[in-house]
Amino acid sequence: MFDTGKILQKLRAEIELLLPFAVPEEEIDVAREFLARFKKDEFALNVIKDYYMTLPEAREEALVDIRVVEEKERVFLLLLSTNRHHYFYLANDEGGIFLGEWHEGIHDKQVLKFFDYSSPESFEKANKDVENCREYSALERMDEDVCPSCGVKSSMLHTLGCPVEVCPWCGGQLSRCNCRFEQLGVEELSDETGLEELEEKLQKKGRIPYAKSQRPTFMTEE
Ligand SMILES: [Zn+2]
Ligand SMILES: [Zn+2]
Repeated sequence: MFDTGKILQKLRAEIELLLPFAVPEEEIDVAREFLARFKKDEFALNVIKDYYMTLPEAREEALVDIRVVEEKERVFLLLLSTNRHHYFYLANDEGGIFLGEWHEGIHDKQVLKFFDYSSPESFEKANKDVENCREYSALERMDEDVCPSCGVKSSMLHTLGCPVEVCPWCGGQLSRCNCRFEQLGVEELSDETGLEELEEKLQKKGRIPYAKSQRPTFMTEE
């Protein structure tokens, strides 16, 4: 199991560090409370961190809401809200970008097309009210049935080298255990040939596809 707890802890610590610079003192408690709701949600924590690092329009305001405007193929069009403003944020596994404010609508042609809108007007028509966009719920993104690391779906093979892949020889973490060296009779893996040979041996032994049960647990969390 790779250590998700540590990643989460680090993300939270980074956000905590940003808060005093990003929001006025009287809003810090609200910002912290919001942060606590997503303390185990790596996706949301990354969104929150990016918000405080970017501070759209240079407004120093606490983030109090994340809503989902659109979602398709693991791409999210989110609405990040403070008590006074709403910002569009487009996010996928790799990161996200701010697309402007709610009252300006969406004008990026590619984004509109991706979410099946024919024009900025049709987007506006379909999204009239902030309140109609559903709330993002903690961990919803983490609960999807795909490998949290390499992104393959259940019962598919991981990308070779994915830290979630289970070793078919010892049942441990394939990218960490010693089996690959033992199988090839070498001290280290360096060249292409070694990798190919390993892949062959893995195939023969039978690689273990992704299953939901391999999801890293949060046992290291306090
Ligand atoms: Zn994987
Ligand atoms: Zn092993």
